[in-house]
Amino acid sequence: MRTSLHRRAVILCALALHAAGPAIAAKAHQHGLARLDIAVDASRVSIVLDTPLDNLLGFERAPRTDAERQQADAAVALLRDGGRLFRIDPAAGCTLAKVELASAPLKLGEAAAAPAPEGHADLEGRFDFDCTQGGRAAFVEVGLFEAFKRLQRLDLQLVTPRGQMKAALQRPASRVALVR
Ligand SMILES: [Zn+2]
Repeated sequence: MRTSLHRRAVILCALALHAAGPAIAAKAHQHGLARLDIAVDASRVSIVLDTPLDNLLGFERAPRTDAERQQADAAVALLRDGGRLFRIDPAAGCTLAKVELASAPLKLGEAAAAPAPEGHADLEGRFDFDCTQGGRAAFVEVGLFEAFKRLQRLDLQLVTPRGQMKAALQRPASRVALVR
């Protein structure tokens, strides 16, 4: 009994920790806009996407019809194909290592255990690339505008060996410069 209570406390705690993420993101929840963080070091490029689900699907709840389910499956397939969505400067020698997606309405990732939120909902994606010379990456070609027609702007936060910077990418631009 004690063990099961303890376990339950741990699960609740994990949910609470996870809930902190979307709660912070919810402040910035604006349709048409998404956040993209790109972190570059010698052996890895990590990209984190935080977007209202509306930008990907046109709705922010679990799919209800076959057409909506197909639409959601297609969006998830595009995101899982991270190597096409984010084409990193070939000089860096990067290959996609891992994609993690989280969204409660789509039952993805850790968020699958959370109750689907009322009203607005987000999707978070993490894309990790292993690189032979990450520091040589001068740009990333981002295919998000091409893949998701509702998305208009990306607010960027870049962390590279040369420092941190903020930038924005407006449709139809696709290239994020990592060096100035
Ligand atoms: Zn929304």
